[in-house]
Amino acid sequence: MPVTCPNLIKKYNTYMGGVDLADMLIALYRTPFRGHRWHLPIFSQMLDICINNSWLLYRRDRKARMDTKKQKALKIFRIEIFESLRKFERTDMSDISRPAMKSTKTIQKPAAERPPDVVRYDQFAHYPTVITSRGRCMYCAKGLTKFFCQKCKLRLCLLPERNCFIQYHTKK
Ligand SMILES: [Zn+2]
Ligand SMILES: [Zn+2]
Repeated sequence: MPVTCPNLIKKYNTYMGGVDLADMLIALYRTPFRGHRWHLPIFSQMLDICINNSWLLYRRDRKARMDTKKQKALKIFRIEIFESLRKFERTDMSDISRPAMKSTKTIQKPAAERPPDVVRYDQFAHYPTVITSRGRCMYCAKGLTKFFCQKCKLRLCLLPERNCFIQYHTKK
């Protein structure tokens, strides 16, 4: 006896390729959230889907640009996102708004460690911060500056005639 196929099933069979791929990618590297809070796995599932979709877009984009560099594996892609977000820290605003009180405090020195290129050029949250003392610019080496990249932890000139801030964060 012929039975009509519900439209839903038809649609599912047509587009399930994408569903299967999403499930497969999720299973590769799952964010391990454990505990009793039931909503956390939902959050991590959505986070993982976002990362996987970004990786698929990266692959598509790479193809379109006919990029000859080796394609980043999903694992490396995830590690780079982690590296980039790890560098993003909030500054304590009370320190900036009360500079007079700061004189006895030690001056925040830029860390010697330079950020990896993936962080340097990520165009995200490289906020300039003013510090109390002048120091050598990391980029042009001759300029003295009070500005400092909050994320890279490096001093950079930020002047009308010399903007090392933009120069440093732009790929040549
Ligand atoms: Zn400079
Ligand atoms: Zn920076």
